Amino acid sequence: MKKITLVVPCRNEQEVIKLFYNEIQKIKKDFVNVVFEIIFVDDGSTDNTLKLMRELAQNDDVRYISFSRNFGKEAAMYAGLEASTGDYIAIMDVDLQDPPFLLKEMYETLESGKFDSVATRRVTRKGEPVIRSVFARIYYKMINKISKTEIVDGARDYRLMTRKMVNAVLEIKEYNRFSKGIFSWVGFKTKWLEYENTPRVAGETKWSFWKLFLYSLDSIVAFSTLPLSIASIMGILFCIVSFFIIIFIIIRTLAFGDPTSGWPSMVCIMFFIGGVQLLCLGIIGQYLSKTYLEVKKRPIYIVQETEKAKLNSK
Ligand code: UDP
Ligand code: MG
Repeated sequence: MKKITLVVPCRNEQEVIKLFYNEIQKIKKDFVNVVFEIIFVDDGSTDNTLKLMRELAQNDDVRYISFSRNFGKEAAMYAGLEASTGDYIAIMDVDLQDPPFLLKEMYETLESGKFDSVATRRVTRKGEPVIRSVFARIYYKMINKISKTEIVDGARDYRLMTRKMVNAVLEIKEYNRFSKGIFSWVGFKTKWLEYENTPRVAGETKWSFWKLFLYSLDSIVAFSTLPLSIASIMGILFCIVSFFIIIFIIIRTLAFGDPTSGWPSMVCIMFFIGGVQLLCLGIIGQYLSKTYLEVKKRPIYIVQETEKAKLNSK
């Protein structure tokens, strides 16, 4: 008898949570000798999501963890993985954008023993704003150039992992989590399944363009230190250039005297160098702020209620 845990982060998902549960019940019959454990993680929802989770937890296969506030999907995934007890553990969105029918194939692949993880990637970005797709493409090109950890284009968080791999992921206790990078960083053999993008069944996406943009900056800081090197390299380059300019100006002054000219060019240069300095300071600031948050060692999430705590209080 094998156990599959489904970790399902939810934030304000009252429209879809029951639909999701029903879909999972439908695919269960395809599995023999497998029990399911569904862990819903309520990431500080402000609608009826938690209430629905409590109702669903009447079923034997459902557990839930409710956070004291919104900690973000990364924290929700971590909490779910930590609570999981299955031999195989999957992370799934509740909005059914991660097709449940793939679970069967994922499970069989892991059972064969050749892989430790089966991950999914979208090959199309149908139904997504064009500008978002363009930025996404640029982002993936760039991050893979500057980071040693491979970040796969179109990779979803939807994947099934062995207990061994999940334990490795849980070892990484950093506060600024970027799971796409972490899954790749821990290594292990991963098989990629490709599928067409499916739109959300109901409810709304929690990701605005701006949020995604900030998230991508975070991921660069988390998985590459190249921007820091760029800052130093620019510093060195500018020192060299200015050295030659100084020599040039000294010689010119000695040879032709010192007519006061070139004020506009000087202002331009000052602005330019000032800008570069601020940029470099900003880059250093980014890393410093992340370091600051890491050294504080705050917990990744705080639990307010689980199905067990509720049973105890009855
Ligand atoms: N989610 C979460 N915490 C958040 C934002 C989102 O747990 O702060 C969950 C959300 O409920 C969903 C999954 O993360 O199950 C993916 O979110 P969404 O569908 O909004 O993202 P998209 O699929 O558009 O990338
Ligand atoms: Mg979604």
